[in-house]
Amino acid sequence: MIKRFVPIERGYKCRIYPNQKQKDIINQTIGSSRWVYNYFLDKAKQNGYANKTQYIKDLPKLKNQEETSWLKNADSIALQQSIRDLDKAFQDFFNGDKGFPNFKSKKGSRLSYRTEYFKRSSGTESIEIKGNKIKLPKVSWIKFSNYSEENIGGKLNNVTVSKSRTGKYYISINVEKIKVVEVNYSNDGQIGIDLGLKDFAITSEGEKIENPKHLSKYENKLARLQKQLARKKEGSNNWQKLKHKIAKVHEKIKNVRTDFLHKLSTRLVKENQFICLENLNIEGMVKNSKLGKHITDVSWGKFTDMLEYKGDWYNCIIQKVDRFFASSQTCNECGTKNPNVKDLSVRNWTCECGAEHDRDLNASLNILQEGKKLLAG
Ligand SMILES: [Zn+2]
Repeated sequence: MIKRFVPIERGYKCRIYPNQKQKDIINQTIGSSRWVYNYFLDKAKQNGYANKTQYIKDLPKLKNQEETSWLKNADSIALQQSIRDLDKAFQDFFNGDKGFPNFKSKKGSRLSYRTEYFKRSSGTESIEIKGNKIKLPKVSWIKFSNYSEENIGGKLNNVTVSKSRTGKYYISINVEKIKVVEVNYSNDGQIGIDLGLKDFAITSEGEKIENPKHLSKYENKLARLQKQLARKKEGSNNWQKLKHKIAKVHEKIKNVRTDFLHKLSTRLVKENQFICLENLNIEGMVKNSKLGKHITDVSWGKFTDMLEYKGDWYNCIIQKVDRFFASSQTCNECGTKNPNVKDLSVRNWTCECGAEHDRDLNASLNILQEGKKLLAG
């Protein structure tokens, strides 16, 4: 038996009873967060989407302008969060997961804001909890119900402050906790998975997991439509029609992929107790890659997320292995590194020790070995 400490996230929803002054600050922060979201969305619509770092830098300038100086009254961490939310909406749009971001209306959107926990260099914390009181930026100390410091525990991540349509106020405290999992450390049900180039993935058991059927058909269609779109006049009727068609194909691709990822992740966590896989830097890759590969990388991130939360349900440990770990180039039998394998076109190779390798299978075996080391570590 081996004890394993797995980080998990938990949310605690509590009612709060702010006084009038605190209500004013909360309402202002909710309104200002929505305003900030809409302001930068409008800016993005006019000048194209810049990036969150730029927009966060613009915030203090807005506070110093007379007509928007009221932003100073709101929790500034929440306003930055609004920009991060907008960034997420744009990333989802760029990935084809969702449509173009919409403005947030006072009536249609949730009355809430999120504020992050962090420790300042001075040692003070943005959010503090003592007993059944919480200190939120700008709002200061406020009593909450249902839970107390002891039952919440864990490491504070963030707090969402919300107001119901009937005027009640709530907070949802998000914390990271450590769950202790005991695993039978046998050799059964342990696999390494390598992200494939041709297939979706390959396991250390030698199973090649193919990409879902029909997917390439839709991807080709998408590429064709996007080429057509580039030739149309932006904003014209035909351009609009084509845009709509493209959104539909994106949706189809997303559905096929999601369904595939759900079925695969469920099967793997049920069949195994220990799964190791590469921890890819998705954000970095998306910026640097072409469309086809990019879609694979994005689904790899989703796949990892699914394995992780389903692993919790089925008591299967998911171990991520550092992506810089040279899994393809190292011989699984003798440990010799073969730099020629860096070349992605090398599918099979023979090591100087005589071992013959399938590129991806060798990589998945190395990932499993590295994962075991980290688990025992
Ligand atoms: Zn070797």
